[in-house]
Amino acid sequence: MIGFIKKGLAKTLGAIKEVAPTKRTFITKDELEEILLEADVTYEVVEEMIYYLPPAEKVKRDVLRTVLLAYFRDVPKISEDEEKPFTELIIGVNGAGKTTTIAKLANIYKKEGLKVLLAASDTFRAAAIEQLKRWAEKIDVPIVYTKQGHDSSAVAYDAIVSAKAKGIDRVLIDTAGRLYNQTNLSNELKKIVRICAKAKEGAPHRKILILDGTQGNSAINQALAFNEIVGIDALIITKLDGTAKGGALFSIAKELKKPILYVGVGEGENDLVAFDKEEFVDSILDSIFEVQETD
Ligand code: GDP
Repeated sequence: MIGFIKKGLAKTLGAIKEVAPTKRTFITKDELEEILLEADVTYEVVEEMIYYLPPAEKVKRDVLRTVLLAYFRDVPKISEDEEKPFTELIIGVNGAGKTTTIAKLANIYKKEGLKVLLAASDTFRAAAIEQLKRWAEKIDVPIVYTKQGHDSSAVAYDAIVSAKAKGIDRVLIDTAGRLYNQTNLSNELKKIVRICAKAKEGAPHRKILILDGTQGNSAINQALAFNEIVGIDALIITKLDGTAKGGALFSIAKELKKPILYVGVGEGENDLVAFDKEEFVDSILDSIFEVQETD
């Protein structure tokens, strides 16, 4: 999958090229500041990055690489045997890319030889149920759903119980991104979490927040709000391909203190790439520096 993050970062790298058209062996701190701000790294984080660099005015690739990599957390491994069915609750505002990402995740898991079941627990919108059903058909995975307006927790419960009975490895649960008001949404998400645990101890094993990458840093407050409601375990950033704000991933990782599992780089079922912090950072550095320094 090497190169996919770089492809997804094309617009961000294009923005960097605007302010740094020629590659060099070192850059000054002022130039670095300009480049990072252009890539939508927040001012606060840019200042922090510069603070962590050695005092010399010249910035070389390797020291910068170490500083940039430190912003990202490693992804904890899933212990598949104990946790079956490993249940993932997919959370985020409407339009962030939840449904599409569920389909992409299911596709990845299926290719890994795992049995997947989807649960259409966004029962607030008929369109959400229909959209997930279409994806389930397209990538050929089973789905549990009900009618619009029915109990979303019951769908999650039935899916987990059915997955246990059928030896399914992974359950992916869609959730509503918007209800009549914030309190309703908050109560609904909390209830789904409680009911998942009733269906299987320890479930949901991962609560994944889907963030729209085109929003850049403005996704942070929304993410903190969801974290407050249910406690997020990990992040997926969608639409990296559609934005020049790729640098926002540094501030998102710093503020949320959660690992980024994947990034979305297109609308198709194969357009989800495991987030490789080294590939991400190196793609940015490749667009700035001429040759790799090894000191
Ligand atoms: P939901 O409301 O959160 O379920 O969002 P959807 O899954 O319906 O996605 C909203 C729109 O974003 C759809 O048009 C998707 O095709 C699009 N989308 C989702 N992920 C990506 C991505 O990684 N890249 C691009 N370019 N579009 C995406």
